[in-house]
Amino acid sequence: MKIKLKASKKQLDCIACSTDASGIAGEAACVYFPNSVEEAGRIAASHNNIVPRGGGSGLAGGAVPLNSCVIDLSKLNKIISIDEARKTAYAEAGIILDELNAELGKRGLEFPVNPSSHAICTIGGMIATNAVGSRAIKHGRTANWVEYVDVINSKGEIKRIGKADLNDFAGMEGTTGIIARVVLRLAEKPKRTASLIKADDFVRITEALGILRLQKDVSMIEFLDKKVSELLGFSSNYHLIVEFESERGEIKDEKYTKLIALRDSIYPKLASEGYIIIEDPKIFLSKMKEFLDFLEDNGIPCYGHIGSGILHPCFSVEKKKKIPEMMKLVKKLHGNITGEHGIGLSKKEFLDDTEKKLISVIKKRMDRFNKFNPGKIIDFASEKAEEKTENQEAKEENNQGVKNGD
Ligand SMILES: Cc1cc2nc3c(=O)[nH]c(=O)nc-3n(C[C@H](O)[C@H](O)[C@H](O)COP(=O)(O)OP(=O)(O)OC[C@H]3O[C@@H](n4cnc5c(N)ncnc54)[C@H](O)[C@@H]3O)c2cc1C
Repeated sequence: MKIKLKASKKQLDCIACSTDASGIAGEAACVYFPNSVEEAGRIAASHNNIVPRGGGSGLAGGAVPLNSCVIDLSKLNKIISIDEARKTAYAEAGIILDELNAELGKRGLEFPVNPSSHAICTIGGMIATNAVGSRAIKHGRTANWVEYVDVINSKGEIKRIGKADLNDFAGMEGTTGIIARVVLRLAEKPKRTASLIKADDFVRITEALGILRLQKDVSMIEFLDKKVSELLGFSSNYHLIVEFESERGEIKDEKYTKLIALRDSIYPKLASEGYIIIEDPKIFLSKMKEFLDFLEDNGIPCYGHIGSGILHPCFSVEKKKKIPEMMKLVKKLHGNITGEHGIGLSKKEFLDDTEKKLISVIKKRMDRFNKFNPGKIIDFASEKAEEKTENQEAKEENNQGVKNGD
């Protein structure tokens, strides 16, 4: 039997792009899949309320449309050139990280920043969120590996942005323009091995971290609390998964690949157990015990990139009410409310005034008419809206003056 779908292709595209991995529901007014950077520029020039979309793997709702026009970059996914001698790659921003790395791997190279969403996230989305991932302890954030980006501004023009101005786009979550093409620095792909460390109490974990963080070949230190350890089939202890860019770890080859795949499966596994809301605070090591005590007391499972201070407490819908309390604790411990996922829609309420002001300054400079991703990170009043209000106020004053016979 043939089932006839009533929705048109356009309606289905709008439904598919109405949310991202955060699960926050939005509404797309229209969706475009430009085939070239120039076409993306023309679309940007002729629309307002634009949401740039990469792989839609964001966990903060940054790509969720608010009755917006979505520009999906999935067709801008070509590698333009790879310079093996200089170790750089020139590519369109919609390329998926794993696809880029598959090509680079043939030349013994890689883009080393490694979010667990590597199979679905795009380089453009990674730059827009300044993604971090499990190897940050050695390789840092995405922006560290970007030479320059070609961006589309509100007039649809394509502008080249070098390192000096990269912060106007890296980490701005698509609120200042569309990242269309990129030149990335690359690393030689090393041989990797791993070790698994088990500990009964957090003091042992802190001791191990103190030593491991100073060692040059350590590229990943991932923490699993007792509940997450059990979920992965380990004993009910704390665990550290330590990755080496050397032969030092005793877990090698196929067993190594399996362990890393198991690590990448944690969030999907927790989500299937009902812990669907994932947070990403960054906490100083000296304050981590207090933070983990809070989570354990409240039955909130946690894992994360402990080597760089980023943890992932995961909340069920019932436990969601504990998030504001956790954010309060993060601030009290002088941590950061987001270490890697960004603010998007989900963390706006926790941003303080100083942070809002800093973002507003960049937004005003790069997108003063609030064309790109309005309503994300901060509630930015566009100059047009401000002009309108000022004109209205002037008109009203004028009218009042006429009434009063001034
Ligand atoms: C299972 C899972 C694991 C994850 N693990 C990690 C992790 O380890 N580390 C980490 O940092 N993140 C992680 N994430 C979050 C997410 O994958 C990253 O934020 C990623 O960088 C988003 O890329 P994307 O292409 O999917 O972007 P999207 O989700 O499409 O968009 C994210 C934001 O970037 C903007 N954007 C996207 N493309 C562009 C562009 N070309 N130009 C301008 N703005 C753009 C969007 O408007 C939005 O605000 C994980 C997510 C999942 C689902």
